[in-house]
Amino acid sequence: MSKIFKRTKILATIGPAVNSFDAIYDLIDAGVNGCRLNFSHGNYEEREQQLKWIREASEKRKKNVAIIQDLQGPKIRLGELKDNHLLVKKDDELILDYMAKEHDGGMTLPVQYNLAEKVKVGDPVFIFDGKIKTKVIEIVSDTAIKLLVENDGFLMSKKGLNLPDTDFGGDIITEKDMRDIEWGVGKDFDFVALSFIQSVADIDNLRQILVSLGSNAQIIAKIETKKAIEDDEAMRAIVTSTDAIMVARGDMAVEAGAEVVPVVQRKLVEFCREQGKLCIVATQTMGSMVENPEPTRAEVNDVATAVIQGADVVMLSDETANGKYPIETVREMKKIILYTQNHIGVDKIDLVKHEQVDIVAHSAVRLAEKIEADLIVTETGSGLTATSVASHRPSMPIISVTSHQRVAQQLALMYANSAFVRAYTETYGLDLVKELKETGYLQGENLKVVIVSGHERKVGGADTIRLRII
Ligand code: ATP
Ligand code: MG
Ligand code: MG
Repeated sequence: MSKIFKRTKILATIGPAVNSFDAIYDLIDAGVNGCRLNFSHGNYEEREQQLKWIREASEKRKKNVAIIQDLQGPKIRLGELKDNHLLVKKDDELILDYMAKEHDGGMTLPVQYNLAEKVKVGDPVFIFDGKIKTKVIEIVSDTAIKLLVENDGFLMSKKGLNLPDTDFGGDIITEKDMRDIEWGVGKDFDFVALSFIQSVADIDNLRQILVSLGSNAQIIAKIETKKAIEDDEAMRAIVTSTDAIMVARGDMAVEAGAEVVPVVQRKLVEFCREQGKLCIVATQTMGSMVENPEPTRAEVNDVATAVIQGADVVMLSDETANGKYPIETVREMKKIILYTQNHIGVDKIDLVKHEQVDIVAHSAVRLAEKIEADLIVTETGSGLTATSVASHRPSMPIISVTSHQRVAQQLALMYANSAFVRAYTETYGLDLVKELKETGYLQGENLKVVIVSGHERKVGGADTIRLRII
Protein backbone atom coordinates (compact mmCIF):
# COMPACT_ATOMS: atom_id res chain seq x y z
CA MET A 1 0.00 0.00 0.00
CA SER A 2 2.75 2.41 0.96
CA LYS A 3 4.16 1.87 -2.53
CA ILE A 4 1.15 3.11 -4.48
CA PHE A 5 0.05 6.15 -2.44
CA LYS A 6 2.32 9.10 -3.06
CA ARG A 7 3.22 10.98 0.11
CA THR A 8 4.51 14.20 -1.43
CA LYS A 9 1.60 15.90 -3.17
CA ILE A 10 1.19 17.67 -6.52
CA LEU A 11 -0.24 21.18 -6.90
CA ALA A 12 -1.08 22.31 -10.44
CA THR A 13 -1.67 25.83 -11.72
CA ILE A 14 -4.84 26.10 -13.79
CA GLY A 15 -4.49 28.18 -16.98
CA PRO A 16 -5.37 28.18 -20.68
CA ALA A 17 -3.79 24.75 -21.37
CA VAL A 18 -6.22 22.96 -19.03
CA ASN A 19 -9.25 25.23 -19.18
CA SER A 20 -12.03 22.62 -19.41
CA PHE A 21 -13.80 20.15 -17.18
CA ASP A 22 -12.19 17.20 -18.98
CA ALA A 23 -8.65 18.53 -18.69
CA ILE A 24 -9.10 19.30 -15.00
CA TYR A 25 -10.56 15.83 -14.41
CA ASP A 26 -7.58 14.29 -16.21
CA LEU A 27 -5.15 16.31 -14.08
CA ILE A 28 -6.80 15.09 -10.88
CA ASP A 29 -6.95 11.54 -12.19
CA ALA A 30 -3.25 11.67 -13.11
CA GLY A 31 -2.26 12.65 -9.56
CA VAL A 32 -3.04 16.30 -8.86
CA ASN A 33 -4.07 16.99 -5.23
CA GLY A 34 -4.54 20.73 -5.40
CA CYS A 35 -5.29 23.41 -7.98
CA ARG A 36 -3.84 26.93 -7.91
CA LEU A 37 -5.75 29.81 -9.44
CA ASN A 38 -3.34 32.68 -10.02
CA PHE A 39 -5.16 36.00 -9.60
CA SER A 40 -2.44 37.76 -11.59
CA HIS A 41 -4.21 36.39 -14.65
CA GLY A 42 -7.71 35.76 -15.89
CA ASN A 43 -11.00 37.29 -14.71
CA TYR A 44 -13.70 36.46 -12.16
CA GLU A 45 -15.94 34.75 -14.69
CA GLU A 46 -13.15 32.38 -15.66
CA ARG A 47 -12.30 31.77 -11.98
CA GLU A 48 -15.90 30.96 -11.08
CA GLN A 49 -16.09 28.45 -13.92
CA GLN A 50 -12.79 26.81 -12.93
CA LEU A 51 -13.85 26.50 -9.28
CA LYS A 52 -16.99 24.74 -10.42
CA TRP A 53 -15.11 22.37 -12.72
CA ILE A 54 -12.57 21.50 -10.03
CA ARG A 55 -15.24 20.71 -7.43
CA GLU A 56 -17.25 18.66 -9.95
CA ALA A 57 -14.18 16.75 -11.12
CA SER A 58 -13.10 16.10 -7.54
CA GLU A 59 -16.54 14.75 -6.72
CA LYS A 60 -16.67 12.57 -9.82
CA ARG A 61 -13.18 11.20 -9.08
CA LYS A 62 -14.13 10.78 -5.37
CA LYS A 63 -10.95 12.52 -4.25
CA ASN A 64 -10.69 15.68 -2.18
CA VAL A 65 -8.77 18.46 -3.88
CA ALA A 66 -7.49 21.71 -2.36
CA ILE A 67 -8.06 25.00 -4.19
CA ILE A 68 -5.70 27.91 -3.72
CA GLN A 69 -6.47 31.54 -4.39
CA ASP A 70 -3.07 33.00 -5.23
CA LEU A 71 -3.11 36.78 -4.80
CA GLN A 72 -0.92 38.89 -7.02
CA GLY A 73 0.50 41.00 -4.18
CA PRO A 74 2.64 44.02 -5.01
CA LYS A 75 3.89 42.55 -8.28
CA ILE A 76 4.17 45.13 -10.99
CA ARG A 77 3.41 44.00 -14.50
CA LEU A 78 3.63 45.36 -18.02
CA GLY A 79 0.33 46.17 -19.72
CA GLU A 80 -0.78 44.64 -23.02
CA LEU A 81 1.79 44.71 -25.81
CA LYS A 82 0.93 44.98 -29.50
CA ASP A 83 0.83 41.43 -30.91
CA ASN A 84 1.81 40.23 -27.39
CA HIS A 85 5.47 40.40 -28.37
CA LEU A 86 8.34 42.91 -28.49
CA LEU A 87 11.94 42.16 -29.45
CA VAL A 88 14.55 44.10 -27.50
CA LYS A 89 18.31 44.37 -27.91
CA LYS A 90 21.22 45.28 -25.67
CA ASP A 91 21.55 49.08 -25.40
CA ASP A 92 17.93 49.72 -26.47
CA GLU A 93 16.13 52.37 -24.42
CA LEU A 94 12.66 51.47 -23.17
CA ILE A 95 10.14 53.82 -21.62
CA LEU A 96 7.66 52.48 -19.06
CA ASP A 97 4.76 54.89 -18.82
CA TYR A 98 1.92 54.49 -16.31
CA MET A 99 -0.22 56.81 -18.47
CA ALA A 100 0.38 54.95 -21.73
CA LYS A 101 -2.96 53.47 -22.71
CA GLU A 102 -1.91 51.32 -25.62
CA HIS A 103 1.31 49.96 -27.02
CA ASP A 104 1.91 51.00 -30.64
CA GLY A 105 4.67 48.47 -31.26
CA GLY A 106 7.39 50.99 -30.31
CA MET A 107 9.59 51.35 -27.26
CA THR A 108 7.07 53.06 -24.95
CA LEU A 109 5.29 50.38 -22.93
CA PRO A 110 2.28 50.55 -20.63
CA VAL A 111 2.91 49.46 -17.05
CA GLN A 112 0.44 48.81 -14.20
CA TYR A 113 2.15 50.99 -11.57
CA ASN A 114 3.56 54.50 -11.43
CA LEU A 115 7.22 53.66 -11.05
CA ALA A 116 8.29 57.27 -11.53
CA GLU A 117 7.27 57.88 -7.91
CA LYS A 118 9.46 55.12 -6.52
CA VAL A 119 12.61 54.41 -8.52
CA LYS A 120 15.96 56.19 -8.52
CA VAL A 121 18.36 56.46 -11.43
CA GLY A 122 20.63 53.41 -11.26
CA ASP A 123 17.99 51.02 -9.80
CA PRO A 124 17.94 47.64 -11.54
CA VAL A 125 14.63 46.65 -13.17
CA PHE A 126 14.29 43.00 -14.20
CA ILE A 127 11.47 42.09 -16.59
CA PHE A 128 9.87 38.76 -17.58
CA ASP A 129 11.18 36.62 -14.70
CA GLY A 130 14.57 38.30 -14.99
CA LYS A 131 15.00 37.36 -18.65
CA ILE A 132 15.50 41.02 -19.59
CA LYS A 133 17.81 43.00 -17.33
CA THR A 134 17.66 46.80 -17.36
CA LYS A 135 18.69 49.83 -15.32
CA VAL A 136 16.86 53.11 -14.76
CA ILE A 137 18.70 55.90 -16.64
CA GLU A 138 16.18 58.72 -16.40
CA ILE A 139 12.94 59.76 -14.71
CA VAL A 140 11.27 61.15 -17.82
CA SER A 141 8.08 62.61 -16.32
CA ASP A 142 5.70 62.26 -13.37
CA THR A 143 4.59 58.94 -14.79
CA ALA A 144 7.37 57.65 -17.04
CA ILE A 145 10.86 56.24 -16.60
CA LYS A 146 13.56 55.36 -19.11
CA LEU A 147 15.44 52.05 -18.93
CA LEU A 148 18.63 50.89 -20.60
CA VAL A 149 18.37 47.28 -21.78
CA GLU A 150 21.38 45.13 -20.90
CA ASN A 151 20.72 41.99 -22.94
CA ASP A 152 18.91 40.75 -26.07
CA GLY A 153 15.57 39.02 -25.78
CA PHE A 154 11.83 39.58 -26.05
CA LEU A 155 8.96 40.79 -23.88
CA MET A 156 5.33 39.70 -23.72
CA SER A 157 2.13 41.26 -22.35
CA LYS A 158 1.57 41.30 -18.57
CA LYS A 159 5.03 39.97 -17.73
CA GLY A 160 6.25 40.87 -14.25
CA LEU A 161 8.87 43.37 -13.13
CA ASN A 162 11.27 42.89 -10.23
CA LEU A 163 12.91 45.88 -8.58
CA PRO A 164 15.00 44.27 -5.86
CA ASP A 165 16.65 47.50 -4.71
CA THR A 166 13.61 49.78 -4.83
CA ASP A 167 11.85 50.55 -1.58
CA PHE A 168 8.06 50.42 -1.92
CA GLY A 169 7.46 50.97 1.76
CA GLY A 170 4.40 49.88 3.70
CA ASP A 171 1.56 47.55 3.13
CA ILE A 172 1.87 44.83 0.51
CA ILE A 173 -1.84 43.99 0.11
CA THR A 174 -2.91 46.06 -2.89
CA GLU A 175 -6.37 47.36 -3.78
CA LYS A 176 -6.63 44.62 -6.37
CA ASP A 177 -5.75 42.02 -3.72
CA MET A 178 -8.48 43.42 -1.43
CA ARG A 179 -11.07 43.16 -4.22
CA ASP A 180 -9.92 39.60 -4.94
CA ILE A 181 -10.04 38.60 -1.26
CA GLU A 182 -13.57 39.98 -0.90
CA TRP A 183 -14.64 38.19 -4.05
CA GLY A 184 -13.04 34.95 -2.88
CA VAL A 185 -14.64 34.79 0.55
CA GLY A 186 -17.49 32.30 0.42
CA LYS A 187 -16.22 30.95 -2.92
CA ASP A 188 -14.83 27.67 -1.53
CA PHE A 189 -11.12 28.44 -1.46
CA ASP A 190 -9.15 26.28 0.98
CA PHE A 191 -6.03 28.44 0.98
CA VAL A 192 -5.20 32.05 0.22
CA ALA A 193 -1.62 32.61 -0.92
CA LEU A 194 0.00 35.99 -0.59
CA SER A 195 2.84 36.94 -2.93
CA PHE A 196 5.94 38.95 -1.99
CA ILE A 197 5.44 38.92 1.76
CA GLN A 198 8.26 40.70 3.54
CA SER A 199 7.56 40.01 7.21
CA VAL A 200 5.24 38.52 9.82
CA ALA A 201 3.18 41.73 9.80
CA ASP A 202 2.00 40.97 6.24
CA ILE A 203 0.71 37.56 7.32
CA ASP A 204 -0.97 38.92 10.46
CA ASN A 205 -2.59 41.58 8.34
CA LEU A 206 -4.02 39.05 5.87
CA ARG A 207 -5.22 36.83 8.71
CA GLN A 208 -7.07 39.71 10.28
CA ILE A 209 -8.76 40.53 6.98
CA LEU A 210 -9.76 36.90 6.34
CA VAL A 211 -11.09 36.38 9.86
CA SER A 212 -13.06 39.63 9.78
CA LEU A 213 -14.68 38.51 6.51
CA GLY A 214 -15.56 35.11 7.99
CA SER A 215 -13.19 33.07 5.83
CA ASN A 216 -11.86 29.72 7.07
CA ALA A 217 -9.15 29.49 4.42
CA GLN A 218 -5.59 28.86 5.55
CA ILE A 219 -2.74 31.18 4.63
CA ILE A 220 0.17 30.34 2.36
CA ALA A 221 3.06 32.79 2.65
CA LYS A 222 4.95 32.96 -0.65
CA ILE A 223 8.62 33.46 0.11
CA GLU A 224 10.27 35.38 -2.69
CA THR A 225 11.64 38.73 -1.46
CA LYS A 226 15.12 39.47 -0.16
CA LYS A 227 13.63 40.72 3.09
CA ALA A 228 11.73 37.49 3.87
CA ILE A 229 14.92 35.41 3.60
CA GLU A 230 17.28 37.89 5.23
CA ASP A 231 18.35 35.38 7.92
CA ASP A 232 17.18 32.21 9.67
CA GLU A 233 15.39 34.20 12.34
CA ALA A 234 13.26 36.05 9.76
CA MET A 235 12.37 32.78 8.01
CA ARG A 236 11.54 30.98 11.26
CA ALA A 237 9.29 33.85 12.41
CA ILE A 238 7.37 33.75 9.14
CA VAL A 239 6.95 29.97 9.37
CA THR A 240 5.63 30.32 12.92
CA SER A 241 2.97 32.83 11.97
CA THR A 242 1.66 31.22 8.77
CA ASP A 243 -0.20 27.95 8.02
CA ALA A 244 1.89 27.13 4.99
CA ILE A 245 4.91 28.30 3.01
CA MET A 246 5.50 28.39 -0.71
CA VAL A 247 9.15 28.43 -1.73
CA ALA A 248 8.48 30.71 -4.71
CA ARG A 249 11.74 30.07 -6.49
CA GLY A 250 10.99 32.09 -9.64
CA ASP A 251 10.82 35.56 -8.19
CA MET A 252 13.20 34.63 -5.36
CA ALA A 253 15.93 33.89 -7.92
CA VAL A 254 15.31 37.21 -9.64
CA GLU A 255 15.25 39.21 -6.41
CA ALA A 256 18.04 37.52 -4.47
CA GLY A 257 20.09 35.60 -7.05
CA ALA A 258 19.55 32.04 -8.28
CA GLU A 259 22.45 30.67 -6.22
CA VAL A 260 20.58 31.59 -3.03
CA VAL A 261 17.55 29.41 -3.82
CA PRO A 262 18.71 25.84 -2.98
CA VAL A 263 19.95 26.85 0.46
CA VAL A 264 16.77 28.78 1.25
CA GLN A 265 14.61 25.87 0.02
CA ARG A 266 16.42 23.42 2.26
CA LYS A 267 16.07 25.69 5.29
CA LEU A 268 12.42 26.53 4.67
CA VAL A 269 11.44 22.88 4.27
CA GLU A 270 13.28 22.10 7.50
CA PHE A 271 11.74 25.01 9.44
CA CYS A 272 8.27 24.02 8.24
CA ARG A 273 8.79 20.41 9.25
CA GLU A 274 10.07 21.44 12.69
CA GLN A 275 6.83 23.27 13.34
CA GLY A 276 4.41 21.04 11.46
CA LYS A 277 3.62 23.63 8.78
CA LEU A 278 2.79 22.79 5.17
CA CYS A 279 5.66 23.37 2.73
CA ILE A 280 5.28 23.80 -1.05
CA VAL A 281 8.26 23.80 -3.41
CA ALA A 282 7.37 25.82 -6.49
CA THR A 283 8.58 26.98 -9.91
CA GLN A 284 10.29 25.19 -12.79
CA THR A 285 10.11 21.78 -11.11
CA MET A 286 9.43 20.28 -14.55
CA GLY A 287 9.96 23.49 -16.55
CA SER A 288 11.23 21.99 -19.79
CA MET A 289 8.00 19.98 -20.12
CA VAL A 290 6.25 23.20 -21.16
CA GLU A 291 7.74 22.38 -24.57
CA ASN A 292 8.98 18.77 -24.35
CA PRO A 293 7.33 15.44 -23.57
CA GLU A 294 10.14 14.47 -21.17
CA PRO A 295 11.73 16.23 -18.21
CA THR A 296 15.47 16.91 -18.08
CA ARG A 297 17.66 14.85 -15.77
CA ALA A 298 18.14 17.94 -13.62
CA GLU A 299 14.38 18.36 -13.23
CA VAL A 300 13.95 14.73 -12.20
CA ASN A 301 16.65 15.30 -9.63
CA ASP A 302 14.98 18.51 -8.44
CA VAL A 303 11.65 16.79 -7.75
CA ALA A 304 13.37 13.82 -6.10
CA THR A 305 15.34 16.21 -3.89
CA ALA A 306 12.14 17.91 -2.68
CA VAL A 307 10.74 14.45 -1.85
CA ILE A 308 13.88 13.47 0.07
CA GLN A 309 13.84 16.77 1.94
CA GLY A 310 10.32 15.89 3.02
CA ALA A 311 8.39 18.70 1.30
CA ASP A 312 4.62 18.28 1.49
CA VAL A 313 3.99 19.53 -2.03
CA VAL A 314 5.73 20.08 -5.36
CA MET A 315 4.06 22.64 -7.61
CA LEU A 316 3.62 23.04 -11.36
CA SER A 317 3.19 26.51 -12.90
CA ASP A 318 3.62 27.06 -16.64
CA GLU A 319 3.86 23.28 -17.11
CA THR A 320 0.13 22.86 -16.51
CA ALA A 321 -1.11 26.47 -17.04
CA ASN A 322 0.50 27.04 -20.39
CA GLY A 323 2.39 23.93 -21.45
CA LYS A 324 2.00 21.47 -24.29
CA TYR A 325 2.01 18.39 -22.05
CA PRO A 326 0.10 19.18 -18.83
CA ILE A 327 -1.22 15.67 -18.12
CA GLU A 328 2.04 13.98 -19.10
CA THR A 329 3.90 16.33 -16.75
CA VAL A 330 1.73 15.27 -13.81
CA ARG A 331 2.21 11.59 -14.69
CA GLU A 332 5.99 12.00 -14.90
CA MET A 333 6.07 13.90 -11.64
CA LYS A 334 4.05 11.21 -9.88
CA LYS A 335 6.42 8.54 -11.17
CA ILE A 336 9.42 10.42 -9.75
CA ILE A 337 7.71 10.94 -6.38
CA LEU A 338 6.73 7.27 -6.05
CA TYR A 339 10.08 5.89 -7.11
CA THR A 340 11.96 8.19 -4.76
CA GLN A 341 9.78 7.57 -1.70
CA ASN A 342 9.86 3.83 -2.31
CA HIS A 343 13.65 3.63 -2.50
CA ILE A 344 15.07 6.15 -0.06
CA GLY A 345 14.08 7.66 3.28
CA VAL A 346 13.19 11.24 4.05
CA ASP A 347 15.86 13.48 5.66
CA LYS A 348 15.70 13.21 9.45
CA ILE A 349 15.03 16.31 11.53
CA ASP A 350 14.09 17.02 15.14
CA LEU A 351 10.64 18.40 15.73
CA VAL A 352 10.39 21.34 18.07
CA LYS A 353 6.74 20.91 19.08
CA HIS A 354 5.97 19.04 22.27
CA GLU A 355 2.25 19.43 22.88
CA GLN A 356 0.19 16.39 23.88
CA VAL A 357 -1.03 15.87 20.33
CA ASP A 358 2.54 15.85 18.99
CA ILE A 359 3.69 13.32 21.58
CA VAL A 360 0.73 11.02 20.88
CA ALA A 361 1.35 11.41 17.14
CA HIS A 362 5.02 10.60 17.59
CA SER A 363 4.21 7.43 19.53
CA ALA A 364 1.68 6.37 16.92
CA VAL A 365 4.17 6.80 14.07
CA ARG A 366 6.88 4.90 15.99
CA LEU A 367 4.44 2.07 16.66
CA ALA A 368 3.36 2.04 13.01
CA GLU A 369 6.97 1.90 11.78
CA LYS A 370 7.91 -0.82 14.28
CA ILE A 371 5.09 -3.19 13.35
CA GLU A 372 5.29 -2.20 9.66
CA ALA A 373 1.68 -1.06 9.66
CA ASP A 374 -0.11 -0.73 6.31
CA LEU A 375 -1.65 2.60 7.20
CA ILE A 376 -2.29 5.13 9.92
CA VAL A 377 -5.82 6.42 10.45
CA THR A 378 -6.38 9.76 12.16
CA GLU A 379 -9.72 10.93 13.48
CA THR A 380 -9.33 14.67 13.19
CA GLY A 381 -11.63 17.62 13.79
CA SER A 382 -9.56 20.68 12.99
CA GLY A 383 -6.95 18.67 11.09
CA LEU A 384 -4.40 19.05 13.90
CA THR A 385 -4.10 15.35 14.71
CA ALA A 386 -3.57 14.54 11.03
CA THR A 387 -1.01 17.33 10.73
CA SER A 388 0.90 16.17 13.80
CA VAL A 389 1.07 12.60 12.54
CA ALA A 390 2.20 13.81 9.09
CA SER A 391 4.92 15.98 10.61
CA HIS A 392 6.70 12.78 11.69
CA ARG A 393 6.84 11.78 8.00
CA PRO A 394 5.64 8.18 8.38
CA SER A 395 6.50 5.79 5.55
CA MET A 396 2.91 4.58 5.18
CA PRO A 397 -0.22 6.43 3.98
CA ILE A 398 -2.35 8.39 6.43
CA ILE A 399 -6.11 8.10 6.02
CA SER A 400 -7.85 10.92 7.85
CA VAL A 401 -11.51 11.14 8.71
CA THR A 402 -13.14 14.42 9.65
CA SER A 403 -16.65 15.83 9.71
CA HIS A 404 -15.53 19.09 8.06
CA GLN A 405 -15.34 19.33 4.27
CA ARG A 406 -12.96 22.32 4.44
CA VAL A 407 -10.50 20.37 6.61
CA ALA A 408 -10.59 17.39 4.26
CA GLN A 409 -9.81 19.68 1.32
CA GLN A 410 -6.93 21.33 3.17
CA LEU A 411 -5.51 17.94 4.14
CA ALA A 412 -5.40 17.02 0.45
CA LEU A 413 -2.05 18.84 0.29
CA MET A 414 -0.71 17.48 3.57
CA TYR A 415 2.10 14.94 3.47
CA ALA A 416 0.83 11.37 3.06
CA ASN A 417 -2.78 12.34 3.85
CA SER A 418 -5.96 11.28 2.09
CA ALA A 419 -8.95 12.69 3.91
CA PHE A 420 -12.57 11.58 3.93
CA VAL A 421 -15.63 13.35 5.29
CA ARG A 422 -18.00 11.31 7.46
CA ALA A 423 -20.46 12.25 10.19
CA TYR A 424 -18.82 11.75 13.59
CA THR A 425 -19.42 8.49 15.45
CA GLU A 426 -17.36 6.77 18.17
CA THR A 427 -15.97 4.36 15.59
CA TYR A 428 -15.81 6.35 12.39
CA GLY A 429 -12.10 5.74 11.81
CA LEU A 430 -12.54 2.01 11.93
CA ASP A 431 -15.75 2.11 9.93
CA LEU A 432 -14.05 4.15 7.22
CA VAL A 433 -11.29 1.57 6.78
CA LYS A 434 -13.85 -1.22 6.45
CA GLU A 435 -15.78 0.80 3.92
CA LEU A 436 -12.65 1.68 1.91
CA LYS A 437 -11.78 -2.02 1.80
CA GLU A 438 -15.21 -2.89 0.49
CA THR A 439 -15.01 -0.29 -2.26
CA GLY A 440 -11.56 -1.52 -3.28
CA TYR A 441 -9.80 1.75 -2.40
CA LEU A 442 -7.72 -0.17 0.13
CA GLN A 443 -6.50 -3.55 -1.06
CA GLY A 444 -5.12 -6.63 0.65
CA GLU A 445 -6.12 -8.79 3.60
CA ASN A 446 -5.20 -8.45 7.26
CA LEU A 447 -4.23 -4.82 7.03
CA LYS A 448 -2.34 -3.58 10.05
CA VAL A 449 -3.90 -0.27 10.98
CA VAL A 450 -2.86 2.21 13.67
CA ILE A 451 -5.72 4.53 14.66
CA VAL A 452 -5.07 7.86 16.42
CA SER A 453 -8.01 9.65 18.02
CA GLY A 454 -9.15 11.94 20.78
CA HIS A 455 -12.19 11.00 22.76
CA GLU A 456 -13.00 14.39 24.18
CA ARG A 457 -13.20 15.79 20.67
CA LYS A 458 -11.32 18.97 21.44
CA VAL A 459 -8.55 20.57 19.40
CA GLY A 460 -5.19 19.10 20.41
CA GLY A 461 -6.90 16.43 22.51
CA ALA A 462 -5.55 13.31 20.78
CA ASP A 463 -5.29 10.73 23.57
CA THR A 464 -5.74 7.26 22.11
CA ILE A 465 -3.74 4.92 19.87
CA ARG A 466 -5.31 1.67 18.78
CA LEU A 467 -3.89 -1.17 16.71
CA ARG A 468 -6.27 -3.23 14.58
CA ILE A 469 -5.95 -5.92 11.97
CA ILE A 470 -8.71 -5.41 9.43
P1 ATP B 1 3.60 34.14 -10.34
O1 ATP B 1 4.79 35.01 -10.10
O2 ATP B 1 2.50 34.46 -9.42
O3 ATP B 1 3.94 32.69 -10.42
P2 ATP B 1 3.36 33.99 -13.25
O4 ATP B 1 3.04 35.07 -14.23
O5 ATP B 1 4.67 33.34 -13.27
O6 ATP B 1 3.04 34.57 -11.79
P3 ATP B 1 2.08 31.34 -13.15
O7 ATP B 1 0.89 31.14 -12.33
O8 ATP B 1 3.38 30.79 -12.71
O9 ATP B 1 2.21 32.93 -13.45
O10 ATP B 1 1.67 30.77 -14.58
C1 ATP B 1 2.58 30.71 -15.64
C2 ATP B 1 2.05 31.38 -16.88
O11 ATP B 1 0.81 30.76 -17.26
C3 ATP B 1 1.71 32.85 -16.71
O12 ATP B 1 2.80 33.72 -16.91
C4 ATP B 1 0.62 33.08 -17.75
O13 ATP B 1 1.21 33.33 -19.01
C5 ATP B 1 -0.08 31.72 -17.79
N1 ATP B 1 -1.33 31.72 -17.01
C6 ATP B 1 -1.53 31.24 -15.78
N2 ATP B 1 -2.82 31.35 -15.40
C7 ATP B 1 -3.44 31.96 -16.43
C8 ATP B 1 -4.80 32.37 -16.68
N3 ATP B 1 -5.77 32.18 -15.79
N4 ATP B 1 -5.06 32.99 -17.84
C9 ATP B 1 -4.08 33.20 -18.76
N5 ATP B 1 -2.82 32.81 -18.60
C10 ATP B 1 -2.48 32.21 -17.46
MG1 MG C 1 5.80 34.65 -8.03
MG1 MG D 1 5.21 31.66 -11.93
